[in-house]
Amino acid sequence: MPTKFSMLDCDQCSKPTLHVENVTNHVLQLMFTVLCASGAFMLTGNLTVAGMAAFGWFAVVWCLLIGFQKPAACTVCGKKRK
Ligand SMILES: [Zn+2]
Repeated sequence: MPTKFSMLDCDQCSKPTLHVENVTNHVLQLMFTVLCASGAFMLTGNLTVAGMAAFGWFAVVWCLLIGFQKPAACTVCGKKRK
């Protein structure tokens, strides 16, 4: 998962500090969804099944990504933003 650095205000340090966070790769997610749909379509030749497979994959991965998404953390004191 890609990491993003940004300057944000920290409650603990009471000043803008460098924060680190994991960001969801939407492009990669979309590519996997399309790949999954075309793969399912080639295997079954059924567009409905392919669509359902793509949607299922999309939903599962999306939930996982959201679940693993952590708030940005201060690199100075380590406090996480809400
Ligand atoms: Zn801090």
